[in-house]
Amino acid sequence: MKERLKSLRGTRDLLPKEAKLWTILEDKARAVFNHFAYSEIRTPVIEESSLFVRSLGQGTDIVEKQMFTFLDRGERSITLRPEATASVVRAYLEDNLENEMGFAKLFYMGPMFRAERPQAGRMRQFHQIGVEAIGSYSPYLDAEVIALLASLLDSFNIRNYEIKINSLGCAKDKEALANGLRRALGGRIKDLCDDCKVRYEKNILRVLDCKNDACNNVIKNIFKGTGEYLCTDCLTHFATVKKSLDGLKINYKEEPYLVRGLDYYTKTTFEVVHKKLGAQDAIGAGGRYDNLVSDLGGQPKGACGFAIGMERSVMALQDIPELDGGLNIYIATMGEEAYKLGFSLAMALREQGISAEVDFEGKSLKAQMRTADRLGARYTAIIGDDEIKNHTITLRNMSTKEQSAVPERSFASEMERIFIK
Ligand SMILES: [Zn+2]
Ligand SMILES: [Zn+2]
Repeated sequence: MKERLKSLRGTRDLLPKEAKLWTILEDKARAVFNHFAYSEIRTPVIEESSLFVRSLGQGTDIVEKQMFTFLDRGERSITLRPEATASVVRAYLEDNLENEMGFAKLFYMGPMFRAERPQAGRMRQFHQIGVEAIGSYSPYLDAEVIALLASLLDSFNIRNYEIKINSLGCAKDKEALANGLRRALGGRIKDLCDDCKVRYEKNILRVLDCKNDACNNVIKNIFKGTGEYLCTDCLTHFATVKKSLDGLKINYKEEPYLVRGLDYYTKTTFEVVHKKLGAQDAIGAGGRYDNLVSDLGGQPKGACGFAIGMERSVMALQDIPELDGGLNIYIATMGEEAYKLGFSLAMALREQGISAEVDFEGKSLKAQMRTADRLGARYTAIIGDDEIKNHTITLRNMSTKEQSAVPERSFASEMERIFIK
């Protein structure tokens, strides 16, 4: 036997059962997005590397350590998308949605790629469902996007999640925040973890993201949260977001230390966490990014969005929904004549809109019946010598075990009576 190949580290196969569960969740997501007037967009998984460098920012972990970047045959630097916001904004501008739609509500689903150390809930190819609402500065949009996130998780039947929200302020406030942090942390650098020593130089807001206890202690001692750096406009904006969330009866917790590690976020940021997920407890996250459209060459436009991880959503499910949709009928045959009849019956049933399967391995009747069970067949049609002679088909109800002989000529109408109302 030849050597077998394996999937790459940090990637995995979604086998039929799990793929079916994902399809159910994706269908639920589509229904929710439809209620909120979002339309789907599908962007390529590869983009010019500079798109991500410009939007996510130098000094972010994604850009510095996690991108799958390669030179193509024309020596262009290409990156497998590590997230989709930058791609959606690029498409919004490139494909003229700016003029066609103005305000655009877009959703996407698909694989993203980051070269991280794989662990539970963290893969190198992972999958996200997300939304981007582009073209409004309204705080009601922030509230609606957060409400949409809650509706989405509710539709998945994920319970006991917690939404944390904060405001980073506008670009000016973020600069004041970074300067304030730099001043406050200046004397305490030696007490920070090695990562944070680097963050202090390169991307100081990320120090607030650190999971290290020592860093947390230092920060909680010297820093009371992002709130004190917000300008009047940003304070009013955030107050309206919270008030409208209260009005919508969306539960949230204010988290004054919550920042998102990507450069493009401004004002409202949020994260949804779940206890079931352990150390990597975020199911999803998002926020407002008012400068990204202009940073990527468009007219200044406010925007807000989020993404949730599919793998993590599945881990947080309260219970797995009923995976119905088993086979309608399995056709078990004995002998060549019976097989020929069964083979063409299966095709006729499918044309009637009834799912049907027949044996392809020359299995015994007993083994065929086991296959019918494994496929979740509701009925089995049994055809052997007697049935051929009598022009009948034996129909077995797999749950009640009742059997009856159906005349071959009325088989189609009998099937229609059972499966198609
Ligand atoms: Zn501000
Ligand atoms: Zn740290």
